[in-house]
Amino acid sequence: MTDNLHPLVEKFMHRYENQPKHIDNGSLYAGSPMYFYCKFCGNVSDILPESYISPPSHVCEECDILKEAGILADALAAKEDGQIIQVPLRKLED
Ligand SMILES: [Zn+2]
Repeated sequence: MTDNLHPLVEKFMHRYENQPKHIDNGSLYAGSPMYFYCKFCGNVSDILPESYISPPSHVCEECDILKEAGILADALAAKEDGQIIQVPLRKLED
């Protein structure tokens, strides 16, 4: 057995640890685009005009891939305890 981290989980941790400073939409001047952040990794998940109609996405594309691959729970566990080395390596389904 290996204690290697799944590459996607590794990327997730990298995103989580390097997330941008969150913009408070309420502090922007009128007409500014609205920024939305991924509820999992904290990176930008959507940018919409102030008068947006369609609902913003709260999950970024990368985390969506994790979700599809069935390893989002592992990524979140790694985020929770910070012991990313203990997340089991899993093969991608493809
Ligand atoms: Zn994300």
